[in-house]
Amino acid sequence: MNADRDLVIIGGGAAGLTAAQYGARANLKVLLIEEMATGGQALIIDDLENYPGFPEPIKGFQFVERMEKQTIRFGTEIKLSTVTGISRTNNVFTVETPEGNYTTYTVILATGAKHRHLEIPGEKELAGRGVSYCATCDGPFFKNRRILVAGGGDAACDEAMFLSKLTDKLTMVHRRDRLRAQKALAERVERNKNIEIRFSTKVIEIKGTGKVESVVLEKADTSERTEVPMDAVFIFVGSIPQAALALDAVKDEGGYLVTNDRMETSVPGLYAVGDVRATPFRQLVVAASDGAIAAHCASQYIDILRGEAYI
Ligand code: NAP
Repeated sequence: MNADRDLVIIGGGAAGLTAAQYGARANLKVLLIEEMATGGQALIIDDLENYPGFPEPIKGFQFVERMEKQTIRFGTEIKLSTVTGISRTNNVFTVETPEGNYTTYTVILATGAKHRHLEIPGEKELAGRGVSYCATCDGPFFKNRRILVAGGGDAACDEAMFLSKLTDKLTMVHRRDRLRAQKALAERVERNKNIEIRFSTKVIEIKGTGKVESVVLEKADTSERTEVPMDAVFIFVGSIPQAALALDAVKDEGGYLVTNDRMETSVPGLYAVGDVRATPFRQLVVAASDGAIAAHCASQYIDILRGEAYI
């Protein structure tokens, strides 16, 4: 059975765009399908300061614009659509969308991860009314107001640094006794005069009528509870991998797709890159690297299918 495409990439973040660029440059017939807008998590980065080759900080959306432009220049076809299913028969995948199906020899999953929720009373009810998962998007609505940031990883620290430019009444609440974020970032947060950190503390409820008015906090050691007036709650407590399209590929205990160093999942011809993949370090530069490796190895895999193996 012949396929219409060599490579279909699902997801247009940094990993997917880089895979598309490398795939197109390897002369593969590449289709990238993205659900919303290309860019993924990078879109919401305020100042991107750790991508090699950019000595001055660059806005996330500007960085992504450049990436997309470069990818299109090499001949990738990009479609905005939702992939509803994947199947695989005789070495050919069928990728289903509401607009029609595409057949392809290889698929790269670059579907990323979604925000994890705290799953506490008031979170769902007050989402968009003071509860937010994006500081760049919603922070400016809470200039000079009382803001709480929940979490202690890189995302929470990054976003707290951004929000601390908008208010001096910022409280960070972390369930452990120290921040999980990279040392340099954690130290910057700890030195920031506008940020008060409450360690070993959980947010257990968000209260308000129509908007956030207060939060209930609980100390881990004593279970002592306090209600604190608050105008906004920004939640950054990790992410959930979007791996539903991965057929029966092996996942780790967190649901992330397990790959080898060629980005191959346990399903032949199916690759995983970026935040959906089990990796010790989720960074833009890592996502881009994953994408390049996957496209290169997908090209070699197609050569093998065609009987031109040279690995
Ligand atoms: P993360 O590193 O998994 O950290 C999640 C944080 O949320 C942890 O501090 C965790 O606490 C806390 N947490 C998880 N579930 C919780 C719950 N139910 N209640 C309260 N707290 C909870 O996630 P992330 O910060 O979103 O980062 C995701 C990945 O992206 C990481 O690999 C990170 O390095 C990367 N990233 C990098 C940058 C950067 O380099 N500037 C920026 C953003 C993200 P514990 O510490 O107690 O587990």
